[in-house]
Amino acid sequence: MQHSWSRYLRLIIALLLGFFLVGLWFGYPLVGLTLGLSVYLVWTLVQARRLHHWLQHPDDDDDAPGSIGLWGEIFDGLHRMHQAHQHSRDLLQTRINRVQESTNAMRDGVIMTDAEGNMEWWNWSAEYLLGFRRDTDRGQPIHNLIRSPAFKAYFDARDYRDPMDLKSPAKPHIHLQIQISLFGDDDRLIVAKDVTRLFQLEQMRRDFVSNVSHEMRTPLTVISGYLETLSDNMDDAPPRWRRAIGTMSQQAERMEALITDLILLAKLETGEQHIDDRVTDVGALIRQICSDARAVSGENQHVIETDIGERHHLFGDENQLRSAFSNIIFNAVKYTPAGGNIRVRWYTDREGAHMSVKDSGIGIDPIHIPRLTERFYRADPSRHQQTGGTGLGLAIVKHVLLNHDGTLEINSHPGDGSEFICHFPRSRITEAPIETA
Ligand code: ADP
Repeated sequence: MQHSWSRYLRLIIALLLGFFLVGLWFGYPLVGLTLGLSVYLVWTLVQARRLHHWLQHPDDDDDAPGSIGLWGEIFDGLHRMHQAHQHSRDLLQTRINRVQESTNAMRDGVIMTDAEGNMEWWNWSAEYLLGFRRDTDRGQPIHNLIRSPAFKAYFDARDYRDPMDLKSPAKPHIHLQIQISLFGDDDRLIVAKDVTRLFQLEQMRRDFVSNVSHEMRTPLTVISGYLETLSDNMDDAPPRWRRAIGTMSQQAERMEALITDLILLAKLETGEQHIDDRVTDVGALIRQICSDARAVSGENQHVIETDIGERHHLFGDENQLRSAFSNIIFNAVKYTPAGGNIRVRWYTDREGAHMSVKDSGIGIDPIHIPRLTERFYRADPSRHQQTGGTGLGLAIVKHVLLNHDGTLEINSHPGDGSEFICHFPRSRITEAPIETA
């Protein structure tokens, strides 16, 4: 560069000297020099103008203008930079195209939004699954296109550990599983998976269980009816029949309880039992259940204490809550030896409302606790013959709590008793109406 610069300088000096000498020849050396400077100035301006034009419209003509001397080198340098830039731009574009092509080929819908949820980019599957339109929806808030309060709550909560289920706003027969990830500057990458097939299979399973339970109920009612008649006339029956009839009645009763629980569970799962926005007086409900529990305890004489905060009621379905609380309280009676203590509390704090049942019973090994709410899971399978439980109680509790945005906490150790706590969020609490005398 240094070399060409000095060559260029020499060329200019030679040019000016030439003009000066020609001027001197004609007797006007200064005019000659001025003419030389003017020619040089005009040439420089022409080169600057060409450069300016090329910089303004670099794409009109891929090559930078050619020239000689320093200007030629400037143009060459710029040309090389321009080519390198174009090359990396093409490379980047190819990569972007490939990513977009592969994302477009995905069966899952993929959507990118900014932090406010404005639509930035989405693939073809998202168009098909969610009904977005390429020409009009860019920049639109996603909540205008997916009008679901549950989706908005999920989007805003920023807790995306679990996916959410959503019916497609464009095609209601399509069931989607939505998973959001945060990236960049609080932007969102939303993946919508078509889980319609899985949903249908799950639905079929639920319907099957519910239908079988309903179908079994009628014959069982007939059998129980006859068994009752036989039991009433036991005195006339031969002695070896008496035991058989007694056992059959007992088993028929268990089956009835099982069918009742299965039907209830199916209803809870299918959402057939809707959560009313009715208010449930949990205190009164617990008192009622505890008095039934004392009757169940009977000769076993469990001491059942209650500690009920009266200030708050709960938004929720009273029947569902009764099933859940009864299961927990009756379990405490079942799994606590005669004379044991059971303490039932209903209280509220900053986190929400809580219903706790603490017993001094046999307790549970911690390894079983995570699986207790599974259907027919029993910590001690040998015991259920004596307790006569259906094995569905805690599964029912789990579903009722799910329907009430609640969670179940279980604290227990073998021999140390157990504590079952139902937690409800603050949004479910309401002030108890003031009693008027
Ligand atoms: P089950 O009809 O067998 O009681 P549940 O679903 O109600 O079915 O309970 C599941 C299992 O959890 C029970 O089989 C029992 O092993 C355990 N369990 C539930 N409650 C208690 C409790 N209060 N104390 C000890 N074990 C309990």
